[in-house]
Amino acid sequence: MDMSADAQDTRCASAAGKADLLGRTSTRQESNSLRSDGRNVPIDPAYRYDMHCHLGFVPHPREVAEEAARRHVRMFSMTVNPAEYQTMHTLLNSCDNVRVGLGIHPWYVEGSADSLSPKTQAMLDNVLAQLPQERFVGEIGLDAGTRHGSTIDAQHVVFERIIAACCTSDQAMHTPDQVQQRKVISIHAIRATDDVLDCLERYQCTVKNDCIIHWFSGSSDQLQRAIALGCYFSIGTRMLQTKRGRAYVRTIPLDRLLIETDLLAQMSTNYDNEHLFTSLYDAYNKVESYRACDLTERIAHTSARLLAYNVDPRR
Ligand SMILES: [Zn+2]
Repeated sequence: MDMSADAQDTRCASAAGKADLLGRTSTRQESNSLRSDGRNVPIDPAYRYDMHCHLGFVPHPREVAEEAARRHVRMFSMTVNPAEYQTMHTLLNSCDNVRVGLGIHPWYVEGSADSLSPKTQAMLDNVLAQLPQERFVGEIGLDAGTRHGSTIDAQHVVFERIIAACCTSDQAMHTPDQVQQRKVISIHAIRATDDVLDCLERYQCTVKNDCIIHWFSGSSDQLQRAIALGCYFSIGTRMLQTKRGRAYVRTIPLDRLLIETDLLAQMSTNYDNEHLFTSLYDAYNKVESYRACDLTERIAHTSARLLAYNVDPRR
């Protein structure tokens, strides 16, 4: 990855390829467009991408996935523990527009640095066993906020073990003629941005994998550090409610900019699926207005590449 070129890249995508906001009437065909690295990759600019959501928390995940497909929406759906991953992987296996991440959310970690709880240890063992075969990882991370800071030492152990495995586990799984497969990792970082970045740096994780910081909430110095490391950033409407969040959106290189809803935040039995799509379109519109340009096609390129749509599978 040419970080310096990426970091300097602030060009806007052309206005061509703007999809209907509701994705219902589009008949747009695939176009051959140029990737930032110069290779031609066919991308359908009509697609919109929710790069961090939680379909496991909606009452009927398959319904939402199928509705998303009708609207030309693709999703990177997080899981909070391996049991949820198993359920969602089975449920959404035939939904090509959804990628399910394997994760242990920091809120679900229990124990201390010296002794993870038996439940957490079992979750970690399960994730580490599955990781060599998985391309999509999330949600993982560190949360030192007031509600979850008491387990931060245990969170460090879990996060570091998973990051270390993401950086070393592939070699044994591939024949010599195959290129090592990069993983796509969605990361939660609350009041622990430097600790997250230290860990990524320690294992050269952003060189070996594609790391997305979701809902970035660190300082501007930490943002610059994350950009220099090669991180991507998924941005949703709640990040855009703060002045600092809006300033960050104007700073992040266009090649690293992604959109998310982070919905649902928790399990719900009474949820209007429309809210998820409205939030996604709203985030796209707001980010485009803050950057004063049409980013839909640009974001589609980056997102499609990360989620392995329309790219050489040997990549
Ligand atoms: Zn999340």
